[in-house]
Amino acid sequence: MAIPLVEPFRISSGEVRLKESLLLRVEGEGAFGWGESSAMPGAFYSKETPGSCQQSLLDALLPAVVGRRFESVIHLESCLRALSSNRFARVAVETAAFELIAFQQNLSVRELLGLPAIEPIPCGLAIGLYDREADLIAAIHRHWPGNYQRLKIKIEPGHDIAPVRAVRAEFGEIPLFVDANAAYTRNDFPTLERLDGYGLMMIEQPLAKDDMDGAALLQRRLHTPVCLDESVETAADARRAIGLGACRIVNIKLQRVGGFLEALRIMKICTEAGISLWLGTMPELGVGTAQLLALAGHSGIGFPTDAHPSSRWFADDVLKPEIKFNGGGLRLPAGPGLGYEVDESKVSRFRVNTWRMGAAARPLA
Ligand code: MG
Repeated sequence: MAIPLVEPFRISSGEVRLKESLLLRVEGEGAFGWGESSAMPGAFYSKETPGSCQQSLLDALLPAVVGRRFESVIHLESCLRALSSNRFARVAVETAAFELIAFQQNLSVRELLGLPAIEPIPCGLAIGLYDREADLIAAIHRHWPGNYQRLKIKIEPGHDIAPVRAVRAEFGEIPLFVDANAAYTRNDFPTLERLDGYGLMMIEQPLAKDDMDGAALLQRRLHTPVCLDESVETAADARRAIGLGACRIVNIKLQRVGGFLEALRIMKICTEAGISLWLGTMPELGVGTAQLLALAGHSGIGFPTDAHPSSRWFADDVLKPEIKFNGGGLRLPAGPGLGYEVDESKVSRFRVNTWRMGAAARPLA
C-alpha cells in the first residue's frame, strides 16, 4: 500500500511523504486475520525497509507457513524466528494469526491477549522536526490540544534546546517530552543535561541503538528519565537495559519487537523491574494502530500512547470505522478480532501490488 501523508514527517534521520505498508490477510478454517508490516523507507528508523520486508514475507516467511498447522502461536513464532531476523516482516504474520484465532474463538484480540479494557485510551501528539521554531509552534497549534494528553517533539543536534524553550514559552507546563531517534553521542551530554531544566517527561532514545552503556552513563547524569525505543528489540535487550540502568521508561512498538508475544515478554520484564511503558508507532496504518490499542490496558503502561486517529498522518486509511477520537481518547471497538474491518475498496484504491499464496505463490498484479 502507498498512502500520502497529510504533511511530510521529518525526524533526525530523514523525511517521509508517503506511507508505505504491507498488509497481510491470512485465512484458515473459515476465519481470517489481518497483519501489517510497516517499516519506514530508507534508513529512516531501522535497517528494515518496505522492500526488505516484502522480500522476507514473499521469499522466506509465507512460503514456509502457508498450508501448515501450528500447535500454538508460540510454535508459529519460533518457526518465523528461525526463517528470518526481520521482525518488521514477522510481526505481520504473528499478529494476523492472533486475529484469526480471536475470530475462531469469538474474542477480541485484547481478550485473547488476556488484557483488560481501558476507555478512553489516552493519546499523545507527536510532531516532527522543523527548521524554524515558528513553523514548529504553528504545526503544534494545528493539533493541540484536541484530545491529546501529552506532546512529543523530535530533536536533533542543533535543534534541541531552542525548540523545547519555544514550546515551553508558547504552551507552558504541558506534559512534554523529546525524541532524538538516536541522533546524539556521548560528546553531547552537556546539551542533553541542559534539557534537564525543562521539566520533560522523558528524553527518548538520545544515543545510538547499540550504545546502552552510554545511555546508562547519561541516565546517571540526568534527573529526566531516559526512554529507550530503537535499543529494545527483544526481551534480552530489555533485561540488559534494566541491568545497566540505561533507562527508566521503554517505548513498546509491535513492529520493532516482531509481534504480540515478544511485546508482552518485554512488558512483563519491564513492569516487574519498575520500568514504565508506553506504546509507540511507526506510525502504522489502521491495522497496526488497532493492534497497538489492544495492548493499551496492560498494567505497566504509564504514559499516553502514540496511537493516533487515522486522519493525524494519512490522507486516508484502510479501516472502517476509521480510528477517531471519542470522548477524550481512542476507544477500541468490542471484538471479535481487532474490532475494525479492513475496507477492501480502500485497499484497492491505495494498493501498489497484490500477491496471493495458496499451494504455490503467484503474483496477481
Ligand atoms: Mg522514538
